[in-house]
Amino acid sequence: MSFLSETIPAADHPTRIDLVGLSREELSQTLAELDLPDYRTKQIWHWIYYRGAKSFDEMTTLAKPLRRDLAERFSISRAGIATAQISNDGTRKWLLDFSDGKQAETVFIPESDRGALCISSQVGCTLSCSFCHTGTQPMVRNLTAGEIVGQMMTARDEIGEWPAAQENRLLSNIVMMGMGEPLYNYDNVVKALRIITDEDGMGFSKRRITLSTAGVAPRIADVGRDLGVRLAISLHAVTDDIRDILVPLNKRYPIKELLDSCRAYPGSRNSRRITFEYIMLKGVNDTPADARELVRLIKGIPAKINLIPFNAWPGVEFECSSDGTIAAFAEIINRAGYTSPVRQPRGRDIMAACGQLKSASEQVRKSRRIAQGKNKKEQE
Ligand code: SAH
Repeated sequence: MSFLSETIPAADHPTRIDLVGLSREELSQTLAELDLPDYRTKQIWHWIYYRGAKSFDEMTTLAKPLRRDLAERFSISRAGIATAQISNDGTRKWLLDFSDGKQAETVFIPESDRGALCISSQVGCTLSCSFCHTGTQPMVRNLTAGEIVGQMMTARDEIGEWPAAQENRLLSNIVMMGMGEPLYNYDNVVKALRIITDEDGMGFSKRRITLSTAGVAPRIADVGRDLGVRLAISLHAVTDDIRDILVPLNKRYPIKELLDSCRAYPGSRNSRRITFEYIMLKGVNDTPADARELVRLIKGIPAKINLIPFNAWPGVEFECSSDGTIAAFAEIINRAGYTSPVRQPRGRDIMAACGQLKSASEQVRKSRRIAQGKNKKEQE
C-alpha cells in the first residue's frame, strides 16, 4: 500500500498532530508517546527541516514500522497553493490556503545570485496605514508558527532548494515584510524564526533575516533579546503630524519613543545597522527639508535608509514622488554619511510589490461573490 508516500494535510485528518511548527522541545514531547530515544527527535527534525521531507515514508533512516506508526499519528503538512504567479521580472507570488480556508501571500524576489523570501505574519492587518493596500483589508487572524515556517518550506519546495543548507542557495534571505505586523504576532514569529535558524534544520543565519515593524516600540527590545535578527522600521515620515496620518500606530508610539527604542536595540551596538524604510509620496514627505530632518532624527543610530517608491493601487489618493525628487532626497541622506538605496519595485505586474499583497485574492473573492449572487438571482 502506498498511503505513506503522500503528504496528508492535517486538515483532512484532524486526529493527526501536525509536526510542522513545533519547537524542538515540543517535538520531543510529542514523539514521547512513541517511546522513542532522544536522537530520533533530531533525526525527524533533520528530515523535516533540512531535507524537506513531506512524508514519513521518505525518512529512510527510520525503520518501516516506525514510519508507519508516525504516519498514523502525525502529519507534516504544507499549506495548499491556491495560486502561483510569476512576474515578468521573475518575482514569484504564492497565495496559500490554510487549513481553515484563510489565505495569505508569500513572495519570492530572486536576484542573480541570491534572493529574498517575503513572509507574512498575519492574515490581513490591524494597522490601517493609509498608503498600504493590505491595510485596507480587515485583520482576520494571526498565522501560527507552523504557517509562518510553512511559507519557507513551500518556497523551497517550489524553487527546488532542498536540502536546506547547501551553498549558493537562491533563497538566501528572509524579510518579515509580508502581510501583517510581525510584532503583533510576537510569540508565533519568534517560535517560527527559531525553527528557521535551528542549526540541525534549515540553519538560516540570523544575519540574513530582517524583521520589519511599523513601530511597535515596546517590543523592539524583545526582538533584540529573543532573536537578534536585523531590524527594519517603517518610518515614512519625520513629523508626528504626518506620521499619524500615514502610520496611525504613531499615535500610540510617536517618533521619539520609536527612535529611542531603536537607539537601545542591542543589534546597533554590534555594528548591525537598522534599516529605516521611507516611502516616497509626492508632496507628502519628500522635500529636501524632510530629508534633512530625517538625518537629524536618526543621528547616533547606525542606520541605512531604504527609499521605497510608492506602489499605487486602485482607488488610492497618494502618488509616487518623481525620480528626480527621490534622487535629490537620496543625495542629502548620502552626503550625511548614510547609504540610501532606492528599493527597486519588484513584481508590480502580479501585485506582489510592497503594500500590494492580498489585494488580488480579495478581488477574486469579491468577484466570485458577485458571480455567486448573480447565479442565485438567476435561479430565483
Ligand atoms: N507591518 C510591518 C511589515 C510589513 S512590511 C511594517 O509595516 O513594517 C511592508 C513594507 O511595505 C512596509 O515598510 C510598508 O510601509 C511598505 N508599504 C506598504 N504599502 C506600500 C506601498 N503601497 N508602496 C510601497 N511600500 C509600501
